[in-house]
Amino acid sequence: KQVASILGVPFSTRGFRESVEYMVERIENGERTHVVTANPEIVMLARENRDFRSIVEQAYVVPDGIGIVYAAKWTNQPIYERVTGVELLEALMLEADRHRWDVYLLGARPDVISLAAQKLAERYPNARVVGYRDGYFRQDEDEQIVREIAEKKPHLLFVALGAPRQEEWMNKYRDQLNASLMMGVGGSFDVISG
Ligand code: UDP
Repeated sequence: KQVASILGVPFSTRGFRESVEYMVERIENGERTHVVTANPEIVMLARENRDFRSIVEQAYVVPDGIGIVYAAKWTNQPIYERVTGVELLEALMLEADRHRWDVYLLGARPDVISLAAQKLAERYPNARVVGYRDGYFRQDEDEQIVREIAEKKPHLLFVALGAPRQEEWMNKYRDQLNASLMMGVGGSFDVISG
């Protein structure tokens, strides 16, 4: 069984490596994927908020943090390993380097995102960072941002607006974004730039 249920939220039971392989396979097959790295806070949000729950139920949800691994253990479900956002971001960038994928980065402060883009481009020279943009924009700028991303047709779209806003934003525009795999990465760009 590939799915476990933690307080009603469907989690992938794949380990880290298997999850990356699954994502690569989906990208290569032209399938769209929304990845949610869910910690206990996200699980509680999904319980409280119907709209957010529906977003999570349609996504590929991975266990972000040891709290989820323990919750699975207590309920006898086969989740043995954490799959965290920063680590996934790095692993997917390595795949982007191997496959020469296009990558778009959205979110974080202007200085943070430009430094993160620069560092990722240096570390993964065959990955193509086709664009980036900070996460401090007004709602009336959404349309223009979505259009820019859509024109780039990135294989990977990483969005750092904080949870749950990043998940809600991606879900709202999922059909227009033209991104193969999109994932909310919380504070990851701050970590990478630091
Ligand atoms: N952020 C943003 N726009 C906003 C609010 C936050 O781009 O309007 C960015 C912030 O700069 C940070 C990221 O969202 O890089 C995630 O923030 P936080 O660590 O608070 O989120 P979490 O990791 O809890 O999801």
